[in-house]
Amino acid sequence: MSEKIYEYKDDNDWFVGRWTGTFSFDGFVSLDNDILELQGSLSRLISSGQSNPASSAGNILLLRFSSVLRLLAFVADMINQELGRHLEVRQHQGAVLMIEQERLLLIHLPQSGLPLSALSEGGLPASFGDTILIATRNDGKTKEFSGIFAKLGLKVENLNDYPDLPDVAETGTSFAENALLKAETIAKLTGKMVLADDSGLKVDVLGGLPGVWSARFSGPDADDASNNAKLLHELAMVFDIKDRSAQFHTTLAVAAPGKESLVVEADWPGYIALQPKGENGFGYDPLFLVGETGRTAAELTPAEKNQLSHRALAVKKLMEVFPEWQAKHSL
Ligand code: IMP
Repeated sequence: MSEKIYEYKDDNDWFVGRWTGTFSFDGFVSLDNDILELQGSLSRLISSGQSNPASSAGNILLLRFSSVLRLLAFVADMINQELGRHLEVRQHQGAVLMIEQERLLLIHLPQSGLPLSALSEGGLPASFGDTILIATRNDGKTKEFSGIFAKLGLKVENLNDYPDLPDVAETGTSFAENALLKAETIAKLTGKMVLADDSGLKVDVLGGLPGVWSARFSGPDADDASNNAKLLHELAMVFDIKDRSAQFHTTLAVAAPGKESLVVEADWPGYIALQPKGENGFGYDPLFLVGETGRTAAELTPAEKNQLSHRALAVKKLMEVFPEWQAKHSL
């Protein structure tokens, strides 16, 4: 029997699991019939793959519970690690499916049920609900998102999987306009669910500039050095650091064909330093003093920045609202 403790925690769900002699859910949340039914199905699923079924199974404590999808993804991960199985969790039109090597082992229906056509031959893979296309060619960015979406049972692809797609020009005057334009155009062209992001720096005393023009602030041939030099020049007469307040901003947009898009936004507050400091990061990081810390974003380790940044904050917000959006639109 493994001594390992498993844990999943976000603002809405908090599960703690341990491998024991019986399979059960316990919790500070009230266990409704849905959960008790799942408990039975999971016990059967575990024993179906074992020669000595009674010897081991999981005990899972639900400290907070909002999503069956997240709970089943947590259970599947635990069973895979303990028993070497290959369970996957996918969402299909609001139903949560547990699959192993392309065999459907468990299905949890949404309250509104599932149209029969969803189960007809070829019905399951036809849905775009189990994959999300990240509108970027940057594999680093894709990797950051794939870890997050894997927990929701979604596979991730990026634009490198679609080499023939045209680049979408960022012609909007707001971050949300640009992110939506990118997500909705690519969703229409591919028929997929798409996530797009747009980020930049907003400096209060400059009325929010460089804003959506952050990448090209110093002109069409801009690079990080020329953009930083221009920013320092623009602020040359602003001596008091308190007057140099700024925010890094990220907008994330998720679009799917024929559905209303989802948008979340987040700001990371700070100040523009009098001179660049630090070697890490990119863009305006050497000039961005993080909150009241006195350290620039370029002085943070990549792991520290990934915990704190505007992108991290936006992703956290997205995770709070994405499952509900997905269920509402039956993806
Ligand atoms: P993008 O929308 O993520 O491509 O960001 C547009 C521009 O905003 C980048 O070219 C950078 O100049 C700036 N920017 C966005 N995020 C960051 C960051 O985390 N650090 C520094 N600069 C950033």
